[in-house]
Amino acid sequence: MRVSDRKSLLKARRNAVFYGILLLVSVATIAVIYCFRSPPPYYEVTDFTMGTRVRVVIASRKVSPKSLANLVLSEFKRLSAKYDPYDPRSVIYEINHSKGWVKVDEETFAIIEAAIRYARITHGAFDPTLGKLIDLWGFSDFERKKPTSVPNEKDIEEKLAETGYENVDLDRSNMAVRLRNGVWLDLGGLVKGYALDRAYNIVRNVDKDATGFIDAGGDIKIIGPKYGKLPWTIGIRDPFGSPSDAVDYVYLREGAIATSGDYERYFIENGIRYHHIFDPKTGYPARGARSVTVISKDAVLADVFATAGFVMAKDWRYVLVEFPKYGAHVFMVMDSGEIHKDPFFKVYESKR
Ligand code: ADP
Ligand code: MG
Repeated sequence: MRVSDRKSLLKARRNAVFYGILLLVSVATIAVIYCFRSPPPYYEVTDFTMGTRVRVVIASRKVSPKSLANLVLSEFKRLSAKYDPYDPRSVIYEINHSKGWVKVDEETFAIIEAAIRYARITHGAFDPTLGKLIDLWGFSDFERKKPTSVPNEKDIEEKLAETGYENVDLDRSNMAVRLRNGVWLDLGGLVKGYALDRAYNIVRNVDKDATGFIDAGGDIKIIGPKYGKLPWTIGIRDPFGSPSDAVDYVYLREGAIATSGDYERYFIENGIRYHHIFDPKTGYPARGARSVTVISKDAVLADVFATAGFVMAKDWRYVLVEFPKYGAHVFMVMDSGEIHKDPFFKVYESKR
């Protein structure tokens, strides 16, 4: 090998080492910047839709959080209009006021099918066919009507006779629904949860790393952990206290939480509280609990089981054993002030 050849080989080797180090330093610098970059700020907006206050708290690196929050609110508005049983333009109104089979779209079919499935699972404690009874009492979910007196007993009995989830026929091959024996659908016990799950999916499809939560009148779906890693602290309202008092705190990085309480909508007559969650067996507001909270992965499941748990409060032992089998973890505040929770619930009470 000639001297000049050896020199150029050495030079090439030196260059390779130099560029190699440069590459390493650049990669390391980028990694450090990536790890320590400040999290994106949270954008927050509140709107009134679906008969409730919907609050969105959201952050994204990919798109403007405001645009994501708008997607959430438009989804709530879409579903609110579509499933409000008292709006003559809604599909539920159409089904309730039709005789015979009604063809519906896939989404509506799936929601009604799910509602009937949950009615079976909860032995009718959750019943999506209480429309006429709820209308009589004046607690229509979306309108937020405020009734003031107990209807007469005969009317309650009459309307109660026109309820019962076994009066809903579903024909999957024709995507059609039929109501029998004069029942009316009221999906108020499930639509909020469905809207939360839908809005969550819409957000995550745009930015799978978006974080934050959606709070629809106390039913909450987590979009992602706070700053990408911390749990959100959620207070469970003390039904015996004022709206800002909590009986317990839970910490969630994902999933959903829903509460059914007798303090949401009610009136007092002769010292007795009448609220908007009905016992499908009696036609009167369910008794036994002041509030039932459920944590689960899906908001629909949490919403449904919170309502069902409230109705089944007197069978609280059964609730604590059976509901967790469906992934629904329960926290109940009883009339007596006693608290019952299933054994797994404590996992959510620790910050982990
Ligand atoms: P909120 O809407 O206040 O969060 P819930 O989730 O418990 O409370 O839903 C209550 C609504 O569900 C009522 O306004 C009514 O539309 C409907 N509903 C009432 N009782 C029942 C029941 N036993 N099963 C199914 N839906 C019910
Ligand atoms: Mg509910």
